[in-house]
Amino acid sequence: MKLDTKAMRHLTGEDWRVLTAVEMGSKNHEIVPTTLIERISRLRGGTSGVHRCISNLAKNGLIARVKEAKYDGYRLTYGGLDYLALHTYASRKEIYSTGTRVGVGKESDIMIVADNKGTQKILKIHRLGRISFRSVKTNRDYLRNRQGGSWMYLSRLAAMKEFAFMQALKAEGFPVPDPISQSRHTILMSLIDAHPMRQIASVPDPATLYAELIALILRLAKHGLIHGDFNEFNILIKEERRRKDTDETIEAGLGASLEPTEDEVIKLTPVVIDFPQMVSMDHENAEMYFDRDVNCIKRFFKRRFKFTATQPGPFFKDAKKTVGKNGAKRLDAEVLASGFTKKMLKDLEAAIREQQGSIEENGEGASLGSDVDDDDEYDDEDDEDDEDESEDEGEGGDPVPLFADGTVLTEHH
Ligand code: ADP
Ligand code: MG
Repeated sequence: MKLDTKAMRHLTGEDWRVLTAVEMGSKNHEIVPTTLIERISRLRGGTSGVHRCISNLAKNGLIARVKEAKYDGYRLTYGGLDYLALHTYASRKEIYSTGTRVGVGKESDIMIVADNKGTQKILKIHRLGRISFRSVKTNRDYLRNRQGGSWMYLSRLAAMKEFAFMQALKAEGFPVPDPISQSRHTILMSLIDAHPMRQIASVPDPATLYAELIALILRLAKHGLIHGDFNEFNILIKEERRRKDTDETIEAGLGASLEPTEDEVIKLTPVVIDFPQMVSMDHENAEMYFDRDVNCIKRFFKRRFKFTATQPGPFFKDAKKTVGKNGAKRLDAEVLASGFTKKMLKDLEAAIREQQGSIEENGEGASLGSDVDDDDEYDDEDDEDDEDESEDEGEGGDPVPLFADGTVLTEHH
């Protein structure tokens, strides 16, 4: 399943209305009865108009007929949900065009998009439920028996939680992307001009970078948080030119040479991403998560940069003592109390754990991430949304208006 915006420009205002009706109906119905779709969308052309729209949406894979149901009904597909989210961003003037996919994460698609001023941004589309289809049989059977809708619901939760944490972390001055906007199962954030640490072969001074990353783990802990997936895929390393004497950042403007001059140094700054699995320092398994984050960094630095810290630790029990100290705001409490029920968080945690488990069972843990770009690996063979995989990623040329309300959304390269 990947984002394919091609059908978008052919949808009429009425199609959008019916698609929205299916989404609204999904709030209370796993399979939305056709009669309810008719009632919610209330098109001028009456039921025949609605039926035409339904068949058009189904043909484009935005909704799917549910055959085994006792009544005639439809469910929204991930494709339909993608379109609704894009429609929302476009109407907020936050996205004007969609570009190439930069990463296929464990349970997400990462796309470069741009607004109408040409500013590039990152759209992260959560797709919980995808990878598990490749997992061991018992897990797969379990997943097949689940309603697709609940995976979509969990993906929405993941996006909401990730966005809430990104906002809270940004406000505290943590090095994270700028959170821009959120819709359904997606978030929009600033594009970080940097590569994941995974792709970096060597650094001039591993000790300093290591110390900075450990300091970040401890700073998170002080605010009551554990990242929970603090690894080489989720740490982007920015290269900045700084003045040696003042530590001032030098913008790499036009005509600037790539090599630093004598009074300049290249400073590596980590930027942390990927927050749906963040947990509180009070979590029952906090120590395990904390140690796992620390050990991920240790292991990576040893393997990649042949660097081992002279000091042991840091240890959870010491970090625990610092939580909330010196006026540090408890971000765990702040975010987790903001509109998330205990049940929501539990469901999400279970889903994420299950995904991680299924990845480990497949023996793929470390190899998954941004350097995996064979997206077809992630596709579920039986997914009916996925029929025209072979088409081109996009079309060039001028932006074409795609929405009846004059909103434009096109593809760029
Ligand atoms: P997942 O939850 O699926 O692991 P991530 O949020 O970790 O998704 O993103 C996957 C990859 O996409 C990252 O490893 C990185 O290469 C890229 N990426 C994600 N967000 C950004 C961003 N804001 N700027 C630049 N690259 C990004
Ligand atoms: Mg990641």
